Amino acid sequence: MNFYELSASQLHKMLTGKKCSAVEIAESVFGRIDAVEDRVGSYLCLTRDNALEAARKVDARIAAGEEIHPLAGIPVAIKDNICTKGVTTTCASRMLHNFVPPYNATVMDKLEAAGILMPGKLNMDEFAMGSSCETSYFHPTRNPHDLERVPGGSSGGSAACVAAGEAVLSLGSDTGGSIRQPSSLCGTIGLKPTYGSVSRYGLVAFASSLDQIGPIGRTVEDVATLYGTICGHDRMDATSARREYPNFAAELTGDVSGMRIGIPKEYYGEGVDGEVKEAIHAALKELEGRGAKLVEVSLPSTDYALSAYYIISSAEASSNLARFDGVKYGYRAENFEGLTDLYEKTRSEGFGDEVKRRIMLGTFVLSSGYYDAYYNKAKLFQKACAAEFARAFEVCDVLATPTSPTVAFKLGENFGDPLKMYAADICTIAVNIAGLPAISIPCGPTGSLPIGLQFIGPKFAEDRLFRASRALEEIRGNLCPVASL
Ligand code: GLN
Repeated sequence: MNFYELSASQLHKMLTGKKCSAVEIAESVFGRIDAVEDRVGSYLCLTRDNALEAARKVDARIAAGEEIHPLAGIPVAIKDNICTKGVTTTCASRMLHNFVPPYNATVMDKLEAAGILMPGKLNMDEFAMGSSCETSYFHPTRNPHDLERVPGGSSGGSAACVAAGEAVLSLGSDTGGSIRQPSSLCGTIGLKPTYGSVSRYGLVAFASSLDQIGPIGRTVEDVATLYGTICGHDRMDATSARREYPNFAAELTGDVSGMRIGIPKEYYGEGVDGEVKEAIHAALKELEGRGAKLVEVSLPSTDYALSAYYIISSAEASSNLARFDGVKYGYRAENFEGLTDLYEKTRSEGFGDEVKRRIMLGTFVLSSGYYDAYYNKAKLFQKACAAEFARAFEVCDVLATPTSPTVAFKLGENFGDPLKMYAADICTIAVNIAGLPAISIPCGPTGSLPIGLQFIGPKFAEDRLFRASRALEEIRGNLCPVASL
């Protein structure tokens, strides 16, 4: 048996039952990394010494008879746009290739207090812009289930490392689908939490009104445990919600009898592959067999979500990324004459094509004369979209849709065609626009490429998403076996 294949809850039992040590868990995961990382490429940097030191501390606490947190001694890898004190945080960009944050993101403080082992920082699309992990300045990540295919993005490293057994859990960030779409393509479970439930302090901002940090794992219980550890109010984030959260993992059940699952017909139209629809319908039938009720609903504004998303997210990105100017952070052009030239050269050389495309688009939609035509319209749409979801939740408890319209595509297949790449998020973006929680869980037939089923809930109803997902896990057994590489 390999420790790296086990879930966090299994490992926790073994640790507290003195059946294994945290150092052994760390060594098992690093052994797996040594064996597969040159093929998968999940990581941008490894923090072996820090992880082993953290493991020894956990072992000492167990030996002293202290109680430990369910994540103590568990390898949790972190997307490289989440600030880690003393460890590079590059956003997979040349612009931040040498940036070492002097502080931790709030989620990192929480995880360190819990006693996690961080194996390293994870690859991503540059500044979280992309759906394939191919826009990373450093190298692409490959899908552990088929190395010719992409892992999805932007949190491609976060999903690939968990699918490959190179970490037990990971954190990603999701602005328009970046936790769920890679989870769908890599066969992992990924949660995009309700906007405001997880602090964004220390997350390098892409589109502040849409960004959320969230967990990726191989069991529903592990994902619930990690979410329960990072959520909560934070005075360092002005958009953080003031409320109490239940103990999601302790209250986890797969009882879906009487649960009304809404099926929005707009999510099953043209562009969604037949095999994806079939897998989802089969899974929903199984939930019906457990007493869930399937109800058809309609979300007619779905068609406009993609356009509104690229206006809002690019507008916010153009403003957020203005700070990268060669003066305050990271990369600085070598030869320049005067301040304007410094800005121009630094930004031309430091950002990749996709980031520049978003900055230009964002600057355009915010410019005078176009602001009302584009940005204001998109913000109006945002209100209408949230209201439409609220109406749907009057007749159902959760919604079920595909996470991605297709299975993982080949490296290079969509890379030269931004519009095709943007369409990869067609099923995930409306959730961010409305600030809702959603989870992606594997539902495909075993033996083929993974397919993700997305459950969407009303704000702060993560418990319902866990319940529906847990039911499927109970029916099907292990949903996320580690990829054989
Ligand atoms: N793929 C989407 C984009 O490129 C979503 C990214 C994200 O969620 N960070 O904008």
